[in-house]
Amino acid sequence: MEDKKIIIAIDGHSSTGKSTVAKQLAKALGYVYVDTGAMYRAITLHAMRKAIIGPLHFEKDKLEGVLPEINIRFEVNPKTGVAEVLLNDKNVEREIRTLEVSKYVSKIAAISSVRKKLVEQQNEMGKDKGIVMDGRDIGTVVFPNAELKLFMTATAKDRAERRYLELKERGEEVTYEDVLKNVVNRDHIDSTRKDSPLRKASDAIKIDNSNLTLQDQFEQILVLAKNAIKNA
Ligand code: C5P
Repeated sequence: MEDKKIIIAIDGHSSTGKSTVAKQLAKALGYVYVDTGAMYRAITLHAMRKAIIGPLHFEKDKLEGVLPEINIRFEVNPKTGVAEVLLNDKNVEREIRTLEVSKYVSKIAAISSVRKKLVEQQNEMGKDKGIVMDGRDIGTVVFPNAELKLFMTATAKDRAERRYLELKERGEEVTYEDVLKNVVNRDHIDSTRKDSPLRKASDAIKIDNSNLTLQDQFEQILVLAKNAIKNA
């Protein structure tokens, strides 16, 4: 008998390596991977380009006005096999990963109309199951009935170090202090917003990966996923 397909929801704090493990897991299971952070980042990039948000201003009404003209979708990169995000049909995978976008994204993600638009789309993506989705509200709001829910965390210092090295590797001129500040600030905004705050679902399994290698973490999570599929 063929295995039943399930939904795997991975939530957690910023820069905990959710997307790395989600990608590994999707590949191992032959599932679709969806990075919901990329969707919020793409809307943020659009808002930055239209000067709707900047260091000293944020025009929420204007953002809500342009929301209907924002189209976000994913397309698999044939070279890597990984889905990349498209903003109005243009690949913005690289542009959305800058520290600049990270600085504004949590403000944009706190807007209910933005969340409503993206959550509807995310629900649709998961309707056939066989999906690994990562974000902040996947186990609590997007798929409260997901068969497996993980909540990832690590110390802010560990997370900022990882993100700093990643950004440096991509050639961004950033300081460790700025990255740390961003990670802490985003977690604060994400956990205190009114709509869908970041929190662990009561039935999510918490994984603190401060002292885990990527390989150990992946192996542990793969066992959890296989068990969840067996019990589905
Ligand atoms: O996952 P990533 O760090 O790329 O997400 C960027 C930001 O998008 C988060 O800090 C959060 O503000 C927002 N986000 C969210 N809900 C999700 C995914 C991301 O609010 N499901």
